[in-house]
Amino acid sequence: MRKLARFLKSFALLELLRGLAVTGRYFFARKITVRYPEEKTPQSPRFRGLHALRRYPNGEERCVGCKLCEAVCPAMAIQIDVAEGKDGARRTTRHDLDLTKCIFCGFCEEACPVEAIVETRAYEYHGETRGDLYYTKEMLLAHGDRHEAQIAADRAGERGGT
Ligand code: SF4
Ligand code: SF4
Repeated sequence: MRKLARFLKSFALLELLRGLAVTGRYFFARKITVRYPEEKTPQSPRFRGLHALRRYPNGEERCVGCKLCEAVCPAMAIQIDVAEGKDGARRTTRHDLDLTKCIFCGFCEEACPVEAIVETRAYEYHGETRGDLYYTKEMLLAHGDRHEAQIAADRAGERGGT
């Protein structure tokens, strides 16, 4: 009896019709697929993307070479060398970041007393060799210069509790 029922079901293409009904239902439903890269999902101001080094509005580097970010990094991704600058202040002569080691935990950003190293919203970058993901101080400063307006707005929003 069960065999006959199964035969009649397959003869009437019931499973196929049920499948087509599901297809038809989603065909007219509201689309939730995001067509990246033309469309993008909303981003949190706390998004932890590519790092940047920041400057003050007068162009002076914020970093005071305290090495806290290097010390706190659990992946040992940051390498800093420090020397005395022309003005007698501590300055970094090297501030490199190996993104192949970084786990984007944000500890470096939290440890920094002057908000010099930050993680930006940028995530559209890539490397074809390991060396492409080794960011030097100059690269991090240049990235900070490009995104300073967004970085400053995000930090101001956090302080305002938004
Ligand atoms: S985000 Fe975390 S792992 Fe990456 S450099 Fe900063 S402290 Fe290190
Ligand atoms: S980026 Fe911040 S924590 Fe790291 S050495 Fe510079 S001042 Fe210190």
